[in-house]
Amino acid sequence: MPDEPFMDTGTEPPTYLHTVSNRVRAQDARPARAAYAPGLAARAIALLSADGWQATEQIPEPRLASWGVVVAGRRDGREITVSVARDRDTVRYLGRTPALALYAQVPHVRPEPVVTERTLLPGRSLCVECDGLGLCPLCEGRGWVLDGLPGWGGGPRDPHRLGRCPECLTQRVCPRCSGTGQY
Ligand SMILES: [Zn+2]
Ligand SMILES: [Zn+2]
Repeated sequence: MPDEPFMDTGTEPPTYLHTVSNRVRAQDARPARAAYAPGLAARAIALLSADGWQATEQIPEPRLASWGVVVAGRRDGREITVSVARDRDTVRYLGRTPALALYAQVPHVRPEPVVTERTLLPGRSLCVECDGLGLCPLCEGRGWVLDGLPGWGGGPRDPHRLGRCPECLTQRVCPRCSGTGQY
């Protein structure tokens, strides 16, 4: 079974989880040999429950309607989904570990400006966009913001995850002064 690590950088802090998936297909694929049968869901629920999983039958999404039976189980934050095709002799297993934070959340602190009124070069003035910060004034150098442009997450379809900063487009420096804080 292939075991795939997955890192989700659309959250802060980013999370890490493993997924595993497999399909079991009978060599004799005639429709008459299809694995689907009434009572399969109850059998899968009973087997998972006996092993300590909280299992329930799921209604397949319309686009996945060819999966006649879908049973999902949860145990200690882990998830398993068993799907049986209605018209093929195929059983699909999906497993997923809990998402673990890669590090403790660190509160963002606005960085010190690269230049102030006192340290300006002669004849220059502070950048009106970032006021000497040098970094992008919207994301303050992070490159991402909640409700940003589609990227890791973000965009209208995923506003609750981190998206690319619409101001600097992940360049992180102030687009107006290119990071110098003055001009
Ligand atoms: Zn600037
Ligand atoms: Zn930015």
